Amino acid sequence: MSKDLKWKEYQIETQAIRAGHKRTPESEHSLPIFTTSSYVFDSAEQASLRFTGKEPGNIYSRFTNPTVAAFQDRLALMERGERCLAFASGMAAIMAVGMGLLKAGDHVLCSRSVFGNTVLMFQNYFGKFGVSTDFVNLTDLEAWEAAIKPNTRFLYIETPSNPLIEIADIAALAEIAHRNGSLLVVDNVFCTPVLQLPLTLGADIVVHSATKYIDGQGRCVGGAVIASNEIIEKDIYPYLRTGGATLSPFNAWVFLSGLETLSLRMRAHCDNAFALAQWLEQQPNVEKVHYPGLASHAQHELAKRQQCQFGAVVSFELRGGQEQAWKLIDSTRMLSITANLGDVKTTITHPATTTHGRLTPEQRAQAGIKDNLVRISVGLENLDDIKNDLLNGL
Ligand SMILES: *Cc1c(COP(=O)(O)O)cnc(C)c1O
Repeated sequence: MSKDLKWKEYQIETQAIRAGHKRTPESEHSLPIFTTSSYVFDSAEQASLRFTGKEPGNIYSRFTNPTVAAFQDRLALMERGERCLAFASGMAAIMAVGMGLLKAGDHVLCSRSVFGNTVLMFQNYFGKFGVSTDFVNLTDLEAWEAAIKPNTRFLYIETPSNPLIEIADIAALAEIAHRNGSLLVVDNVFCTPVLQLPLTLGADIVVHSATKYIDGQGRCVGGAVIASNEIIEKDIYPYLRTGGATLSPFNAWVFLSGLETLSLRMRAHCDNAFALAQWLEQQPNVEKVHYPGLASHAQHELAKRQQCQFGAVVSFELRGGQEQAWKLIDSTRMLSITANLGDVKTTITHPATTTHGRLTPEQRAQAGIKDNLVRISVGLENLDDIKNDLLNGL
């Protein structure tokens, strides 16, 4: 059996590799995939104790599975949270936060610059059941303060944002939320716990799409919610058990090995992205580069304080319009033309006609997403090969 080490006392790189695995009597070194839907009890009495929660242990893999539990325990430690619950996708994790915490009559205050489906989730689905949502400019603290209401259940942000890579002040927003009796929810997909720890800055809930950097190689879809014991026990776990958007043990197993290399990969991703952003700034056909590592970025100082590196998504505006942006994208030969991100493979996309194509031109203008904007999720290929691929079109 595994030694009972206090994983809280270890550093994140070590937790990412070793925490969460409860070795079975088979003495396996690598964590197994438990492909079982149900579990067998020693007696009728034990079954009853498990079902009523009086005795801990596995019951049914919709809400208890050892491989999924290992992933949850490891990610909770890495995010400095008390508990983590895994879900079938990032959207299922965000849905769980809403289903667990909101009721008719509640209000959500959401950043304008969040994942498109997150906007639809709050507006179209929670909206149907009597929850209202207002959208606020991510970096404008006065706007958050002004828009908060007595019935605001939580503030919801992504930082850095997509695709303009703006940075929100997590500590300041947590303070605004708490002063008004609300919570702060942070989508930490772009940074991962390697670069940013929202819970240590005052956030109450972190959500993840494990599909991105946690997997890191574009294989599986999954998500997670990390929060205090109280929030998980009272609001999230009962919803997971009833709602059933469960992470499969196979996907949990892939994510566990993804976590093992997360620190290394994030450092390499960030180094490549920083160097590419500096290089892009010097290209005559590039008008503006959005990357928080650059001194030209409006929240450069905040990013330095809040994150330990600047992330691996870079966006830039070309001289010209949509035609020039599409020409650049089409002239690449190696980069993948896809809106996905967080992969070892570098991806390139035109936000105005893909991820943000459903917005009206006015909404796009308000969000600052121009027709000449190109977004790159910088992968781990050799930097010179990435630059050369872009040079064709620059
Ligand atoms: C991809 C993504 C999501 C949704 O995650 P899925 O795993 O695709 O459901 C949520 N937030 C951000 C920032 C994302 O990039």
